[in-house]
Amino acid sequence: MKEKPSCASCKHQRRRCNAYCPLAPYFPHDRLAQFLNVRKLFGVSNVLRIIKDLEPQQRDDAMRTIIFEAEVRARDPVRGCLGVIEDLQRQINWSRAELEVTLAHLRTVKQQRQTNHGIPAAAHLGGFPVGSFSSNRLYGMPLNPLLHTDGGRAGHGGRNMAGGVGIDI
Ligand SMILES: [Zn+2]
Repeated sequence: MKEKPSCASCKHQRRRCNAYCPLAPYFPHDRLAQFLNVRKLFGVSNVLRIIKDLEPQQRDDAMRTIIFEAEVRARDPVRGCLGVIEDLQRQINWSRAELEVTLAHLRTVKQQRQTNHGIPAAAHLGGFPVGSFSSNRLYGMPLNPLLHTDGGRAGHGGRNMAGGVGIDI
């Protein structure tokens, strides 16, 4: 039977890996670069101290985040994980702005529809998939009431329309 290769940690420290090696599950022999990132940011003894008293499930979570943090720090030595958070925040802001523009567009279309009685809203949207929004939730906020068209009430519910599409993010 072929012997299992030492984990990246043991290989780096030039010792034999055994079945009880606490780092073997997280650093297989081919993950040397990953191990070196973790070693550089945290130090092996600190990592061992962090996971020593954790439950197996918690240990997996801790190692997953330690490896993630070390990799992100290696990629972005200045911002590290904060860079990821900032990038995601920027993406959220961008999506919110895009949503506001879309809703403003929708308001305009609805208003146009009211002034041009009988012309369906879809004709103004140029293929804009209004229906695809109806079952979605964004940031836990149900969108369908905002996008609800007045359907059969067209003709006598006109005055309430403008208030129906307001959004407060
Ligand atoms: Zn090992």
